[in-house]
Amino acid sequence: MSRRNRLIVFKALTSYLVLSVLSTDDNTDDMNEIISYKDYVTYESSHTEDILSIRDSSHSRYYYSGQEISPLNYHRLKKAVTDSSTCIYCDEVLSIIDKKNSIRSLDTSSVSLEIRYCEKCNWWNAKYLKITHGSERLHNKELITTVREEYEGIIKSYAIDDYATPIELIRHYLNANHDKYNLIKPQQFEMLVASVFKDFFSCEVRHVGGPGDNGVDIYMVLNNMPILVQVKHRKDPKAVEAPSIVRELIGSCVMENSKHGIIVSSADRFSAQSRSNAVNENLVRNNIRIDLMNRQDFFSTMKLVTNNVVKPWEDIDWGIGL
Ligand SMILES: [Zn+2]
Repeated sequence: MSRRNRLIVFKALTSYLVLSVLSTDDNTDDMNEIISYKDYVTYESSHTEDILSIRDSSHSRYYYSGQEISPLNYHRLKKAVTDSSTCIYCDEVLSIIDKKNSIRSLDTSSVSLEIRYCEKCNWWNAKYLKITHGSERLHNKELITTVREEYEGIIKSYAIDDYATPIELIRHYLNANHDKYNLIKPQQFEMLVASVFKDFFSCEVRHVGGPGDNGVDIYMVLNNMPILVQVKHRKDPKAVEAPSIVRELIGSCVMENSKHGIIVSSADRFSAQSRSNAVNENLVRNNIRIDLMNRQDFFSTMKLVTNNVVKPWEDIDWGIGL
């Protein structure tokens, strides 16, 4: 079978799979679920033609996130016709990162790479093509080798309130869906704050929260100075943070000999009394600083240090640099 014929069969098969998947997969409505395309499947084929002797040799391999799998499993996992210009899940027009025709004169090979991704749901696919011309005078061969690789993000779903769900995914999801913050658990919110502060302050961050945390959930060191962070997860969208939490953190700062404390709360706001506690004149005299972050403050900070697009393709070694 020629390569062109094989491709047509391959396309027909994947069209069938797309249709069967679209008609059965209907779990995207679930409000308590994060959909991720971080895992991917790979199809690699290499085809060598010897022009002089008209001899062909080829092989194909299939992978799931780097582990070799059977062709059957690959076709089960693969959802798309990769020539599609719209997302197979939400029909958005795909954005294209084009690395076309990087021609290397040294080994007379040409390389092209095209990555398409959906900015709405992050589904993606990539095509890599490398054609090499070479000759072996000794054995009288004129070889053309074509290496074709196709990558495709595959769907995986996670429960939002599951501790096994990577915090990076929760962060990305909440960045786009602020109103879903009350679906996560208090300790997940602490982990989320630790993850965001690590990037925002570019410093060492230790999550120490738990029962008996002594009023400190996160311990940071910035310019050799300890910063104590207390995190409160309030699920009621209209919650107001009372003054006692500020007094508690001031106490922890004194006990830990720290001059800087931060309270992050998913409450809508801090009460007037808690705000005035935070700027008490005796604190100022003792050089103790207490910062208060409500839900909006925290999400604005998170937005500054969180990418909108998760880019699994950046972790793939393409051999040509991105
Ligand atoms: Zn999409």
